[in-house]
Amino acid sequence: MYKKTLFIFLILSLLSLSQTSFSSIAENTPKQPGVVDLRILETTDLHASLVNYDYYQTKADNRIGLVKTATLIRAARHEAQNSLLFDDGDHLKGNPLGEYLARIRGIHKGKIHPVYRAFNFLNYDAIAIGNHEFNYGLDFLNAAIKGAKMPVINANVYSVKKNKHYFTPYVILKRNVVDQTGEKFELNVGVIAFMPTQIMKWDKANLEGKVIAKPIVDTAKEMIPIMKSKGADIIIALAHTGISFEPYSSESENAVYYLTNIPGIDVVLAGHSHSVFPGPVYKNSPKTNIKTGHINGKPVVMAGAFGSRLGIIDLTIQKSSNRWKIIKGISFTRPIADESGKSLVRKDKGLYKLVKPEHQETVDFIKKLGL
Ligand SMILES: [Zn+2]
Repeated sequence: MYKKTLFIFLILSLLSLSQTSFSSIAENTPKQPGVVDLRILETTDLHASLVNYDYYQTKADNRIGLVKTATLIRAARHEAQNSLLFDDGDHLKGNPLGEYLARIRGIHKGKIHPVYRAFNFLNYDAIAIGNHEFNYGLDFLNAAIKGAKMPVINANVYSVKKNKHYFTPYVILKRNVVDQTGEKFELNVGVIAFMPTQIMKWDKANLEGKVIAKPIVDTAKEMIPIMKSKGADIIIALAHTGISFEPYSSESENAVYYLTNIPGIDVVLAGHSHSVFPGPVYKNSPKTNIKTGHINGKPVVMAGAFGSRLGIIDLTIQKSSNRWKIIKGISFTRPIADESGKSLVRKDKGLYKLVKPEHQETVDFIKKLGL
């Protein structure tokens, strides 16, 4: 009996072995012309966490810091043939470095805010403005974003005086991509950004009479057809808004679920609520698949906060009869530290060197205060 069981076990293991090798062959399907693998990377809600440092405890903290996420960004780019990198907003305020720069030192003339210096260094393709970007007032924000080399966008904040978009509402990035056989194509990537209308309440003193915020979903429905008519092949929403499954209201602070229902939006990069998507919190959420990272059939990613994770969406798109179609999309995040806080990546030395002056100034300032 024992021998027979062993025999069956051996046969089964051999079968499963041959199945494994068969499926790995199947995965290596021939490379197809006109099929492009495009990787989309997201950071969100950095809140000025450039360095892996806790300014309150005055010691290193390996669970945060763009200097760490930068290492994940480099690796993720290295693995992909085509990639794009975006920040989803709330990057200027939220720690003593942000406070020190905005309220104590100010931005020196001709100097670039270290957050934008970091974004320039890492070659971000476009960035969104988050609600916290308004906390230091419009003058500070406008001076700071001048240092950003990439488009800084938002579509649902309007100037009161001009009744026009206050920022660049969207961009169509012309990017050269290569298909699976190495042939080059030009791809027009539409990128649009949104933030919660609650800014009018949260930053009333800074914004009243100067700007107004229009509902996210209404703005998206108005703008997406315009972007399509201007030639956007695919559209990525930098949605500085979280994921909620509550019934729709035009004033919904967290509008991702409803954005994924809008035709023409292909991918949603979420933020604002500092959560991780895909993640176990969303296991039982409606029309949500946490294995593929889809909501309403569209890829969505949210990379936590403070640089703790990098958001990744791997899209496969195909060109047929002059139009690009999404044939596959999967989303996931990669952490910079494990659950116990143990570091999983080294810091990017180049980036650290670049932002070290302001980091050191902040540390010295805190020490001087005797905090
Ligand atoms: Zn936010």
